[in-house]
Amino acid sequence: STTNEALMARRLAAVAPGVGHVHPIFTQRAENATVWDVEGREYIDFAGGIAVLNTGHLHPKVKAAVQAQLEDFSHTCFMVLGYESYIQVCEKLNQLVPGDFPKKSALFTSGSEAVENAIKVARAHTKRAGVIAFTSAYHGRTMATLALTGKVAPYSKGMGLMSANVYRALFPCELHGVFEDDAMASIEQIFKNDAEPSDIAAIILEPVQGEGGFYAATPAFMKRLRDLCDREGIMLIADEVQTGAGRTGTFFAMEQMGVAADITTFAKSIAGGFPLSGITGRASVMDAIAAGGLGGTYGGSPIACAAALAVIEVFEQENLLERANRMGEHIKARLAVMQAKYKQIAEVRGLGAMIAIELMEDGKPAPEYCPKILTEARNLGLILLSCGTYGNVLRVLVPLTAPDEQLDAGLDIMATCFDKVFK
Ligand code: PMP
Repeated sequence: STTNEALMARRLAAVAPGVGHVHPIFTQRAENATVWDVEGREYIDFAGGIAVLNTGHLHPKVKAAVQAQLEDFSHTCFMVLGYESYIQVCEKLNQLVPGDFPKKSALFTSGSEAVENAIKVARAHTKRAGVIAFTSAYHGRTMATLALTGKVAPYSKGMGLMSANVYRALFPCELHGVFEDDAMASIEQIFKNDAEPSDIAAIILEPVQGEGGFYAATPAFMKRLRDLCDREGIMLIADEVQTGAGRTGTFFAMEQMGVAADITTFAKSIAGGFPLSGITGRASVMDAIAAGGLGGTYGGSPIACAAALAVIEVFEQENLLERANRMGEHIKARLAVMQAKYKQIAEVRGLGAMIAIELMEDGKPAPEYCPKILTEARNLGLILLSCGTYGNVLRVLVPLTAPDEQLDAGLDIMATCFDKVFK
């Protein structure tokens, strides 16, 4: 049997360093919210493969659906020979995505690909090429999405300038002194300085920024964006890759924002650990691209579609939206107790079960603590993730199916780590 150390040596020799690693451990097995490494050590998983496992590792119903699909066929390419499950996923998403209008969907493989295709649809529909994205946004690592992602290092460092026609607006974040009026003014500034509204195809944003630090947009801000988009004929794109599939306590975060996007992207937890992404939008907008303009060899794979249908069923059968809200309240309450003890915890925030704590010192982001806390937690058997433009945010993405005792055990470990690190 191998060791984490041996595998790390081989990884460093064989794998491109651009593919970074958060934790120097290698997985043997996983079940619900528990992971075992190759040395047999057990961990509580608060990372969920970066927001992919809202229904936990290998949910029995997801596993059974995939196993059943494997008995029939694994691949035909939907564009060559169709299958019902792809259509069913689109029908489901057309219902689940907010918006009181007819919708159509298309399926892909990764979140980045979904965002790329959302932009393609917006461009085709509006016959415009400009896109407004926000500071600290994360929309992916492919070329077009890198232009939208609002963080140069490490994502596009050394790669030269990304594609043009992307304009950067300020994402409202009061903790860091950016108010909604400032954000709206930054868009007006773009219209004044850089591009006419009639050249802007889309405004894209995450309803709650994910990699950027778990900052939620307010319904009021979303309404202002919606009004502006309506006024100027601009498509509003909600990137729900990280917020979607129940993480925020509604199936999509936009349900809590009072207005609907024209196009919504989804991925990650939608298929419970299998690669599926997609876009759902107004039928009249989605119709802008003719046959052949959307798709991909693996997009909406039969295995991923089977998994997604099972995930959607599990949400209903196990009341996971209600559970997300209950879990979120519990996590926030426990983190608030820890916040009262340590001045470094500047804020505990979150929507539903998308929870983060931000670490600051003397009114400034304090990035030095997260790596220490991640290491301490791992040593005590808890897998945590950080995020944030400044790397000073700890985020909790525990499976919504995690048992209460395990959730508390994970939170206990966080408390122990804070005791050690914030001295
Ligand atoms: N959009 C958002 C909001 C994301 O959080 C991510 C992934 N972290 C992506 C897009 C890109 O998804 P993927 O890594 O599957 O390409």
